[in-house]
Amino acid sequence: MIENLNSKIETSPVLILADLPLSSHAGTALAVLGHPIGHSLSPAMHNAALAGLAGHDREFSAWRYFRFDVSPADLPNALARLHAAGFFGLNLTVPHKIIAVAHVAEIDPDARHVGAVNTLRRTTLGWRGYNTDGYGLATAVRETLGLDLASAPIILLGAGGAARGAAVECLQRRCASLTIVNRTRAHLDTLLAFLAPLAGNIPLRGLTSADSSLPAKALLINATSAGLRANDLAPIDLAVLPRPAAVYDMIYNPPQTPLLRAAAALDVPHANGLSMLVHQGAKSLEIWSGVPAAQTAPVMLAAARAALASP
Ligand code: NAP
Repeated sequence: MIENLNSKIETSPVLILADLPLSSHAGTALAVLGHPIGHSLSPAMHNAALAGLAGHDREFSAWRYFRFDVSPADLPNALARLHAAGFFGLNLTVPHKIIAVAHVAEIDPDARHVGAVNTLRRTTLGWRGYNTDGYGLATAVRETLGLDLASAPIILLGAGGAARGAAVECLQRRCASLTIVNRTRAHLDTLLAFLAPLAGNIPLRGLTSADSSLPAKALLINATSAGLRANDLAPIDLAVLPRPAAVYDMIYNPPQTPLLRAAAALDVPHANGLSMLVHQGAKSLEIWSGVPAAQTAPVMLAAARAALASP
């Protein structure tokens, strides 16, 4: 099957389920499922890492990572068909991370806390779900900003799926406090209610807009999608809150968002989300291959940068 898919991938990098013959396959097949999926950097990152590993261990020369465009309605069918076709591991991206929880045979306890899975590993009965986004965020913040999620008060912007994963990671790592800012009160309240049992004695509160009551010297994490589009404004005016210790924007394309430009103007240390993407990917590969994430992350970062730079 890999050979069939390989010939297809040269002309059409985005595969659909109809491209999937249910014959036995000659190698280890991995894939990312999303809708849309054409923009995903994961195939470039993973195939570069696998090519690097194959230089030292021949086993990895038979590993390939594909991408499939799968609509949300088709996800249960896709998971069953990819399992039947012998796929060993899957990544899930928007809009599948939460939907998939109901369709895995087993779930890692950390992923259960988040209520979302981004990595599936084959089992005899089906798929075991994991979530590597939290690891990706924590590792990226440490690497790019020199901060531990436990070391500073956290201001988290957003109340969607990415914010939920980030909030759970911050609480599990015992952050000093967590303040969530989200423009829509109902979404904010839903997230706060979800997090309350995890918070214990960690101060947790929510605001619908930024004000001077926000903690000083905080790590500010943007988990909103404000900044993805060319005309977007920053999700928060940095001038109205006490100076943060650093700003981490989960957005990586474009590499410079209005929020990051504002942080640069105030001389606040800042970083974009490419490092998070890379570290969550390297952790997924570790779950499938056993190769430590730290070993493959540098190759993945170089591949992601090259893919972003190519027209
Ligand atoms: P989502 O579930 O759709 O949530 C979007 C959030 O953004 C909501 O809280 C929404 O607020 C807020 N928002 C949207 N437009 C806004 C605006 N103009 N001003 C203020 N807030 C706004 O999306 P998601 O899956 O959580 O993803 C959020 C971002 O994280 C995306 O940019 C995504 O690319 C990024 N991300 C990056 C990584 C990585 O590896 N680097 C991983 C995951 C996600 P309301 O509740 O008010 O609508």
